[in-house]
Amino acid sequence: MRVLVVEDEAKVARALREGLEREKYEVVVAPSGEEGFFLVNAEEFDLVLLDLMLPGRDGLQVLSTLRKRGLQTPVLILTARDAIEDRVEGLDKGADDYLVKPFAFPELLARVRALLRRGRTEQAVQLRLADLEMDAVTRKARRGGHQLDLTAREFELLEYLLRHKEQVVSREMLARYVWKETARATPLDNVMDVHINRLRRKVDEPFDRNLIHTVRGVGFVLREEE
Ligand code: CA
Repeated sequence: MRVLVVEDEAKVARALREGLEREKYEVVVAPSGEEGFFLVNAEEFDLVLLDLMLPGRDGLQVLSTLRKRGLQTPVLILTARDAIEDRVEGLDKGADDYLVKPFAFPELLARVRALLRRGRTEQAVQLRLADLEMDAVTRKARRGGHQLDLTAREFELLEYLLRHKEQVVSREMLARYVWKETARATPLDNVMDVHINRLRRKVDEPFDRNLIHTVRGVGFVLREEE
């Protein structure tokens, strides 16, 4: 389980890291809103602990941008501001829970566990979007009832897009989770474009409506609407 901690106060961040690592969570700390925003777009986390008062982009801005982009990662807000408006605004903007600082660590852990239980996306075997269907176990994909003839890589790429349907998937995420490439700067863009194009020829071209869409400057999204 990977937890992203977006927290600018070094002391609090350190305490969170140590406490969570003791419970065997993998912890990544972002000391600013910008860094948190970058990491959430580039990597996958099971949970985000988000401080509201951050330098640069504040926590609420980070949160609303994430939700607008369709990321469903559970978010637990940490705030020293106990003003009720901030908490309400946070929940309105798509936070799943909040905790007011200072908090007792056992309470934080209980909330983290609850969110992870709820937020864990079931590893569904049957995936579908519109008339596109996929069986992740038999590794067969069909669209409009027609079997799609996909290579192993094309299948993995389509499966990843389908498991994140209606969410913008960045090139960094594809590099990491489909190509298993962890280095930040790899010359993968051309390879990725070739595979996406082949996938489009098989999944979209023979049909009326395109499901694979390019999000300029970011990556791709699989969805019904243009
Ligand atoms: Ca802060």
